[in-house]
Amino acid sequence: MKIILLGPPGAGKGTQAQFLIDTFAIPQISTGDMLRAAVKAGTELGLKVKSVMESGGLVTDEIIISLVKERITQDDCTNGFLFDGFPRTIPQAEALIEAGVDIEYVLEIYVPDEEIVKRLSGRRVHPASGRIYHIEHNPPQTLGIDDVTGEALIQREDDKEETVRKRLEVYHQQTLPLVDFYQALEKQSATVKFAQINGVGNIDQIKKQLLAVLS
Ligand code: ADP
Ligand code: ADP
Repeated sequence: MKIILLGPPGAGKGTQAQFLIDTFAIPQISTGDMLRAAVKAGTELGLKVKSVMESGGLVTDEIIISLVKERITQDDCTNGFLFDGFPRTIPQAEALIEAGVDIEYVLEIYVPDEEIVKRLSGRRVHPASGRIYHIEHNPPQTLGIDDVTGEALIQREDDKEETVRKRLEVYHQQTLPLVDFYQALEKQSATVKFAQINGVGNIDQIKKQLLAVLS
């Protein structure tokens, strides 16, 4: 199964990815998580992308495409994968087609901008695993602590309101055109299915909508 989760920052892609990867036994490929790991480790890639990520802009297509192409050659990808936060531009989506990667489902989770700003101010993450919490909507058992490892949760630097607004602007300009792109592709090809999911509601309701499309 090869799935793309599309949607603005804070739509709930990472949250829903956690149950989809268990259900379908496929890995989550989050370009955001991969880039943050590179920044934290201080690699050459990390040094290149740090400032653009902090400002809420997009990393270049060239960097992202080579990162993803390399990742999908790994052994755990033989049954497919779930892309979370990729592709984010038309050239990234075209690169997938050129590489012969036949995506089966593109699932757009849509949420209005004002709801996003509220959600991201309450987001807390466990960087090592990518587990995601919300201080009100999905709180950890102990405030500030990851349920599984007992380690501290953090608030992402780019989740402050000003940067969130910039990321939303970038989403509308560069990523939303992918909705038309995949709708057009669905019409041309029998293999790709595109579905829109209302991302407002509780996490379980959204999970049910996703499963209804996928089963
Ligand atoms: P969110 O899902 O909260 O928007 P991500 O973790 O997916 O955030 O991404 C964080 C940042 O990493 C983005 O703001 C961008 O700078 C960079 N990034 C992640 N994925 C991509 C991508 N596919 N193309 C370009 N930049 C990306
Ligand atoms: P994305 O990966 O699309 O950027 P996340 O999965 O990280 O989004 O979710 C953003 C924030 O919103 C997190 O704090 C998460 O706990 C919370 N969240 C996710 N789904 C919902 C929902 N359906 N209702 C309210 N809050 C949600």
